[in-house]
Amino acid sequence: MPGAFHDLAAEKLSLTALRELQARRLSELLSSVTASNKFYKAKLKAAGIKPADAAKAKLEDLPFTTKSDLIEDQGRHPPFGTNLTQPLAEYTRYHQTSGSTGHPMRWLDTTESWESMLRSWSCIYHAAGMKSSDRICFAFSFGPFLGFWSAFEAATRYGALCFPAGGMTTVARLRFILDNGITAVCCTPTYALRMAETAAAEKINIRLSPVKRLIVAGEPGGSVPETRARIEEAWGARCIDHYGMTEVGPAAFECEKCDRKKGRLHVIETGYIAECIKPGKTDPVEPGQTGELVLTSLGRSASPLIRYRTGDIVRVGRSPHCECGRSFISLEGGILGRADDMIVVRGVNVYPSAIEAIVRRVPGIVEYRVEVSQQREMTELKMQVEVSPEEPSPKAAVKQLSSEIEHVLGLRIPVELAAQGSLPRFEMKAKRWVRQN
Ligand SMILES: [Zn+2]
Repeated sequence: MPGAFHDLAAEKLSLTALRELQARRLSELLSSVTASNKFYKAKLKAAGIKPADAAKAKLEDLPFTTKSDLIEDQGRHPPFGTNLTQPLAEYTRYHQTSGSTGHPMRWLDTTESWESMLRSWSCIYHAAGMKSSDRICFAFSFGPFLGFWSAFEAATRYGALCFPAGGMTTVARLRFILDNGITAVCCTPTYALRMAETAAAEKINIRLSPVKRLIVAGEPGGSVPETRARIEEAWGARCIDHYGMTEVGPAAFECEKCDRKKGRLHVIETGYIAECIKPGKTDPVEPGQTGELVLTSLGRSASPLIRYRTGDIVRVGRSPHCECGRSFISLEGGILGRADDMIVVRGVNVYPSAIEAIVRRVPGIVEYRVEVSQQREMTELKMQVEVSPEEPSPKAAVKQLSSEIEHVLGLRIPVELAAQGSLPRFEMKAKRWVRQN
């Protein structure tokens, strides 16, 4: 039952008790990695931390870990690398990243480290208001991507009735959702919109379905108020964001008390230590400033991460206490973008999430694509948009988008109208930004 599986008391720890818990767990983690984890033994040695002193080391003295450190290690020691604290025979789960940067990363878990992630998931479900009477549908194909399996298994532990919906077309999934009286759907924000678009084309009224909530992640869209508003309008249901990645697991959930027009994620600080540093540097930002999220995973000691530079841009709230009663760090506005996704166009910093927000404000636009090209040393953008067949004036939607972009970003970006169904649709993370040269 959720009461037994979900540790609500841990979420209500005072700030002092929380910091003590984190310090104790960090010390335990450092003891275990210095005993048997080759990857971190080498990293700590290179940082001048002796094995005998490791358990007492302060967080700020520990070295950062980057994605390229991990990829390099797996390249040198294939297939799994050396970030393994336990003997290989102890591991029971294999997953890998989507490899969007060209290097899928392999990740192993023991039964114990997997359990710690399921506990983190219970925080996400609890804040989303899930009940054991819920029927939750997982609208994706179950490949080697970690999020699906951990979300599914945690939901069974939580007590919900769980429906895998892999290997189906979008129409089949919509029928599956309706026929089984599904009350909650887990998917990417892009796919929540895709299902809504297909439902409209098939004359299926999803607003009349019993679906009350869509639990989304995997793209910045889940934190973009305009995208969430559009999902909520189409489904007549609440859209709830969370955050995680294969390397660290499910790390943050949406606060149920947050201002819906702004959004707020809480890092599950019983399982992670969160820091926010200046992008490209190593020093921390002041509370309220924007910086890169750095995470240390405390519960996944079999394949841990210490001071992992996530590349995700966040703004940590100034207040250490939230009105929901938790002392967990607040990421105001959720994940604001990825450091390496920012593009400078004629001196203006453009994040894909900013374009996403503008597109979702314009009624009638169902899909879009952004082409990035280099022209005479300058980066230029060009957009194509597809407009719903029900929209009476597609050209007006295109014009509105152009002027909104100019108004918000101060940039003129050419926008073309694409033919119905010509732009790619996505089931998982969308790839809407393409480089032309
Ligand atoms: Zn809160």
